[in-house]
Amino acid sequence: MFNYEARAGHLRAALRKTRADAFITSFLPHVRYLTGYSGSNGLCIVTDSSLTLLTDFRYQEQIEAEVPLASKHIVKGDLFAAAVKEKLLSYFGSVAFEEGYLPVGSFQLLKEKLPQVRLVPSSGIVESLTAVKEGSEIALIKKAAEITERVFEKVLGIVKPGISENDIAAEIGYLHRKFGAEKDSFDTIVASGTRGSLPHGAASSKKIQKGEMVTLDFGCVYQGYCSDLTRTVAVGTPSSEVKKIYQIVLDAQRSAIHAAHSGLPAKKLDAVARSLIEKKGFGKFFGHGLGHGIGLQVHESPRLFAKSKHLLCAGNVVTIEPGIYLPGKFGVRIEDDVVIHNGACEVITSSPKELIVV
Ligand code: ZN
Ligand code: ZN
Repeated sequence: MFNYEARAGHLRAALRKTRADAFITSFLPHVRYLTGYSGSNGLCIVTDSSLTLLTDFRYQEQIEAEVPLASKHIVKGDLFAAAVKEKLLSYFGSVAFEEGYLPVGSFQLLKEKLPQVRLVPSSGIVESLTAVKEGSEIALIKKAAEITERVFEKVLGIVKPGISENDIAAEIGYLHRKFGAEKDSFDTIVASGTRGSLPHGAASSKKIQKGEMVTLDFGCVYQGYCSDLTRTVAVGTPSSEVKKIYQIVLDAQRSAIHAAHSGLPAKKLDAVARSLIEKKGFGKFFGHGLGHGIGLQVHESPRLFAKSKHLLCAGNVVTIEPGIYLPGKFGVRIEDDVVIHNGACEVITSSPKELIVV
């Protein structure tokens, strides 16, 4: 289903640039991307001519089904220690590791047990591969998005005065699974009233009250791939201030979607939404980046923000999620998932985004 051959080929090309003989990672989303293994304990080693996965006996059956290409080693104890013991790394002059993800203890172990091997810090190698999705990956993200849309439609029916944020979050988790997802892709955010000014306000025991805005930010995982959707709805008639802010965020979000296409620097896309919000005088209340890549992880490359160096390209799947957060008052964020194509982008979350009053 996925092209592991091509992924290994791309990784090898990148590895050559680091001049290392091998690449090692135990960061599970990357191990999964490179081998297909979806368990909780794995180590992957890539060289110019080999692709190796180490895990423990609990996953013996699972890897037979999941891992088509890599050679598989079932080992005991710490995976790095086992890689050393099985002499999987001993003969290399240098081994590249992911500086953002290799545990310090594992680094120390490699350094101590393999004094002859040069350990080369690297960053962004797998990230640059996962940022450009294969067709089959995009299909799974679309499916995850579809499930999340269905959940939104359903959950709108229970957003009313008296229900707690936690109850809404629980319902979202339940419906995700019921509609075929594996789980939520992150802890559901339900931020109502003044809590709406917390961009990442995890659901709490607070009860929804009439006249409040409620930000719902949630997503699911379908066959490993994530969706991520935000809608902000009004409970009872919204004030004119709420309507004004909502419209600014919606205009900013729509203009960014309109502008998104391959070849555009990510920072320019961020600027499309940001400048619109700034012009209305609310720039300082939009404190986060415009969006982020989604895939096996809910936050991954490319990141869309003011200092991003990424150039959008066909196959990127990103969120577009401007927001305005007024401390002590309320917040509004609107988020969709889009696929970048040559020339334009395709919005894959189609939940309504005109201000919904429940
Ligand atoms: Zn989100
Ligand atoms: Zn997001």
